[in-house]
Amino acid sequence: MVVEKQRWIKLVCQALEDGKVKEARKIVQLKYPFQSPHQNQQRTAISNLKKLDVFYRDSFKCRYCGKETIFAGTLMVISRFIPEEFPYHPHWKWNATHPAFWELASSCDHILPKARGGGDEINNLVTSCYQCNSIKSNWTLEELRWKLLEPSTSEWDGLIGMFVKIMDKHKIQNRYLRGWHRLLKSYERVGKRGGQK
Ligand SMILES: [Zn+2]
Repeated sequence: MVVEKQRWIKLVCQALEDGKVKEARKIVQLKYPFQSPHQNQQRTAISNLKKLDVFYRDSFKCRYCGKETIFAGTLMVISRFIPEEFPYHPHWKWNATHPAFWELASSCDHILPKARGGGDEINNLVTSCYQCNSIKSNWTLEELRWKLLEPSTSEWDGLIGMFVKIMDKHKIQNRYLRGWHRLLKSYERVGKRGGQK
């Protein structure tokens, strides 16, 4: 299937011109759905432990664009210290969140989207930067004409080691971050080199 997003928008316009709002809505929902990566992330049932396994297998590199991603908790910690220079909004409002979150934060993405029948098994999950995750949305690799990169064996750790170090030293009152900190303290691969098992 060739993706022609402009065509779908044109069909939306035509429907609206005819006053068929319902049809316009249906086209968008089916052919060009809105889904923020944040929502996407929340809807998945992937445990934090499984996410770590995916991130470490891929050395925290985006399997779509090859970018070195940064653990979102690390970016959130920076924001706790310097919120004006490095703002973070819990719903990632674009005008209240530093671009580093969109450009660099690690996320776990389904290669075959859940909406298209993909499962939560580790072979269907990859490390993705938020930017790619957002574009990928509910498309398949074939539809986007993307190629999946091999898991990286570099030593990049997504600065997750720095997250643990800062959290060790400073009392940061945030349940989400403390939860990750607790998990990471017991996760054997933190502080060691990335790459494959
Ligand atoms: Zn990417």
